[in-house]
Amino acid sequence: MAKPSPLRGRFAPSPTGPLHFGSLIAALGGFLEARSRGGEWLMRIEDVDAPRTIPGAADAILRVLARYGLDWDGPVLHQSRRTEYYQAALDRLQGAGLAYPCTCTRRELAVNPRAGDGSSIYPGHCRTGVRHPDRPQAMRLRVDDASLVFRDAIQGDYSQTLGSESGDFVIRRADGCFAYQLAVVIDDADQGITQVVRGGDLLDSTPRQIYLQQLLDLPTPEYAHLPIAVDLHGDKLSKQTGAPPLDERNPGPTLWNALRFLGQQPPPELSCAPVAEIIRWALAHWRLGSVPTVWPRRQD
Ligand code: GLU
Ligand code: ZN
Repeated sequence: MAKPSPLRGRFAPSPTGPLHFGSLIAALGGFLEARSRGGEWLMRIEDVDAPRTIPGAADAILRVLARYGLDWDGPVLHQSRRTEYYQAALDRLQGAGLAYPCTCTRRELAVNPRAGDGSSIYPGHCRTGVRHPDRPQAMRLRVDDASLVFRDAIQGDYSQTLGSESGDFVIRRADGCFAYQLAVVIDDADQGITQVVRGGDLLDSTPRQIYLQQLLDLPTPEYAHLPIAVDLHGDKLSKQTGAPPLDERNPGPTLWNALRFLGQQPPPELSCAPVAEIIRWALAHWRLGSVPTVWPRRQD
């Protein structure tokens, strides 16, 4: 009898700045879900977006994760060293007539409605040939009008019609960088990831990723999208909005707060305990079913 495939999760930070509370939520939730079920938890540095990568940020992220007691299995994968694999996938999609070059600029597309990730829903200008052959070319993936449905382990059923809600999306940018959507799909498959736990801001990217998995004959992992940490204005905590870096000297109370945010009930006295003890408690008591399903409400 074939051995059941081991449960394997991952954390995939972009080294565009220091870790903040929002990234800790994703790391902690993924770590606890994988390890409490006897699985592995792998690390991937998503430095595919070279212009946004900050030198030294990846090392700082790994150092802080270790301080927070979140140790990972195996070697760290760096997207910046994996271009040949992304190129091979692009070649395959292009060979199948599924990818095509596009020369539209972001500014030209700004008049169109936006997808959930803020990108413009592409109206298909270059589908039958690029409009400006003299310009650098991005590559877009052709999507169809089928609606794609998946069941998120926290948020429940989620459905999206790629044609109207995303449009043909970029898989390699005009500056030559491969897009997150393509890289993440190749890497999750190559790392043998069976379960993706991450921030809820990526829920609406998931149908694009599942679509790519289907086109490339790759397995679809299980998905679990965590609630998003917001600031007092209701904006997502992010490096762009200046979320403060995680406290490296005294991680306990922050770790305790992160457990509370994830709907767990750590005893109050645990917040002053050593990190290893907090993690031990969290692994023994972790319940994915207690993680809140709704985003915190915007406070006006
Ligand atoms: N690199 C992404 C980020 O830092 C996460 C991607 C993922 O988990 O799929 O937001
Ligand atoms: Zn175009």
